[in-house]
Amino acid sequence: MLDLAIIGGGPAGLTAGLYATRGGLKNVTMFEMGLPGGQITGSSEIENYPGQGNVMTGMELMENWLEQCQRFGLKHEMNQVSKVTKEGDIFTLETADGKKQEAKSVLLATGSVPRRAGFQGEDKFFGRGISTCATCDGFFYKGKEVALVGGGDSALEEAVYLAKTCSKVYLVHRRDTYRAAPSTIEHMKACENIEEVTNVDIEEVYGDNMGVTGLKVKSKIDGTIRDLPVPGVFVFVGRDVLNDPLKQDDGTFLCDTNEQGEIIVDLRMRTNVPGLYAAGDVRIDAAKQVVCASGDGSTAAVNIIEYLG
Ligand code: NAP
Repeated sequence: MLDLAIIGGGPAGLTAGLYATRGGLKNVTMFEMGLPGGQITGSSEIENYPGQGNVMTGMELMENWLEQCQRFGLKHEMNQVSKVTKEGDIFTLETADGKKQEAKSVLLATGSVPRRAGFQGEDKFFGRGISTCATCDGFFYKGKEVALVGGGDSALEEAVYLAKTCSKVYLVHRRDTYRAAPSTIEHMKACENIEEVTNVDIEEVYGDNMGVTGLKVKSKIDGTIRDLPVPGVFVFVGRDVLNDPLKQDDGTFLCDTNEQGEIIVDLRMRTNVPGLYAAGDVRIDAAKQVVCASGDGSTAAVNIIEYLG
């Protein structure tokens, strides 16, 4: 029987693991199906984590977090939690390999996954020229032209990153204003090899057996079609929360969520189910910053320790 099961090994889950174990909980396991560190490890440039010093990659920022937690006794299990149920005071976690694990408390810190934009050809060419990770795949397009879809912080930051490797980046956005920080917009506009292709819808991404060979965009102003013959398309159009483990057999969630499926918590990261907490990007009103997710994790852990008495 675990004191605490943490689902997700990003900044929220890792910080919760650190505070829970250092705060005296003996039996804490963090379930993470991939590499601990979370989605931020796919970011190419971080410059807003307090105290970090120089600009660094997400991978560099996260590289010591797990080891620090393990020093205080956090156990890490590389496994996917597929379902969480509760009977009486006890939670049961079912993992992808069919095992069951009981816990007195649970923290959901699963974060989110890249959203699909929904254009023609997206599913067909995903992983064959369409990517959601510039640090992972940008290198394949060294010296080549690429297109990047989106108009938020992620899109603009990754456009700037790709502009360093690629000969040209077409920044394809459905409006002509961006929802990114002013300094990020400034960085993007300063890159001479980024061309803004705004007020357009994507008609289709096309290709052949080898993968993407281009995309067609349609102007929202005059309906003209423009062809961009690029071998790579990066998509950064937001993220969807990963709430699947809380889905019950009858289709409802174990605790309250909002319309987007984000977990409703109070300022202590408590859900409406005693002993069940949520932290980081999976919760309502998340600022979606590493520092905030980390803060959520510590808040949750402090309150879980109190809950367990
Ligand atoms: P976001 O802010 O939600 O932006 C998504 C962008 O994609 C928007 O410009 C949106 O267009 C566009 N979009 C959405 N659906 C689309 C579709 N189906 N087809 C075409 N375009 C579509 O997402 P994000 O950039 O991933 O950022 C998520 C959160 O993380 C934000 O709160 C952001 O501030 C934060 N973040 C912060 C940093 C940082 O501080 N360094 C870095 C990355 C992300 P519209 O503008 O027209 O809606």
